[in-house]
Amino acid sequence: MRDKSKYEIIFKEGKAFRNNRELAEVNCEYCNEKVYRAKNKSVYKRKNFCNQVCKQNYNNPLTAKIMDHKDTPNFNYLLGLIASDGYVNRKKRGETVVLGFGSKYPDELKLLKELQSLYGGRIHSGSNKSNYIHLTNHNFYEYCLSIGLSPKKSLSLDVTKWFSGLCEENKWAFIRGCFDGDGCFTHFFNSFGRFEGRANFTSGSEPFAKMIHDFLKLNTKINKYKNNYNLNINCSNIEKTFSPMYKNIETELYLERKYLKYKIIRDYYSNI
Ligand SMILES: [Zn+2]
Repeated sequence: MRDKSKYEIIFKEGKAFRNNRELAEVNCEYCNEKVYRAKNKSVYKRKNFCNQVCKQNYNNPLTAKIMDHKDTPNFNYLLGLIASDGYVNRKKRGETVVLGFGSKYPDELKLLKELQSLYGGRIHSGSNKSNYIHLTNHNFYEYCLSIGLSPKKSLSLDVTKWFSGLCEENKWAFIRGCFDGDGCFTHFFNSFGRFEGRANFTSGSEPFAKMIHDFLKLNTKINKYKNNYNLNINCSNIEKTFSPMYKNIETELYLERKYLKYKIIRDYYSNI
């Protein structure tokens, strides 16, 4: 075990010492708390922080305030995206929530940049042109865990209780996030030459698939295929099922590619 006394700050003659070395009293750049650092030439010139959290908050002021957005649709949309395409992670650099898109569609990078303009964070590219945003904030991380987004979430993900407490607008924003993550709209002409539009949603978690199934009031049953639970939704009633999901997109975030597909199906069915 560490010998604590070695790290103790001792005050004598109005000065602070640790290990007999004189310390400088400086202020945390972020929260203004007093901090003690080894007294040397640079200590007054550089930025000092209480800890990693204050340093992160200083460098990322938008992420520091992310929980102020808790009751907004865009924040709940972000959580929907994280529930499908993200994860929570505790790393050396801090408690981080990561959202990543594994493909090279330009609308995904655009969306990450829009999220960054609201909530800060770092965007970086992985292999295969996948793009990620990292949001490092203790309270946000704890909030994600508290609502049911666990570090190994894919199988056990269950946010049903939290979801039931959201207002209608935030519920739809969350659902849009889930669809923009793990859902898709497809359309094709079947073997009889008839147009068919379908929506699909896949999750590794049964309670999560069930929550979405129940919320959308679907009649179809949940299909289990290998380790996935799949909702295959007939879209002849697309407007009824999905229009609330896109009701507020003038002011809320969404993935363009999926909205355009939704529109094609909606317009086709409304014109026949
Ligand atoms: Zn501080």
